[in-house]
Amino acid sequence: MPNKLPSPQTVVRELAEAEKSLDPFYLAQRWGVVVVLESWHPATWGEYDRRNVQIYLNKQAPVSLQKILAHELGHFWIHQQGFQLSRKEEETWVEAFADELDQSKTLCITKA
Ligand SMILES: [Zn+2]
Repeated sequence: MPNKLPSPQTVVRELAEAEKSLDPFYLAQRWGVVVVLESWHPATWGEYDRRNVQIYLNKQAPVSLQKILAHELGHFWIHQQGFQLSRKEEETWVEAFADELDQSKTLCITKA
């Protein structure tokens, strides 16, 4: 177990500094995460396959693929850093991460 889990705001700020982009598709590529677009009955919008380091996005989901990918990347980041949270804690953190990523995108654009 690593140190204390940083806030999603902190992680996103550091990402913006390091990567100069907060585009989820760009980040996935940088992190070596394979993104697969598929269509399935929309019980879920996205899936993170931890073993194969792949993220599946459901093209039939009623929200943007960017947003779903941002959420699943949050799961990737948590697991990558070795944090072990309860399901509920992890979902809460990941949702906040996805929101933050979305809201902070313009920071990078104006800085570039
Ligand atoms: Zn989730």
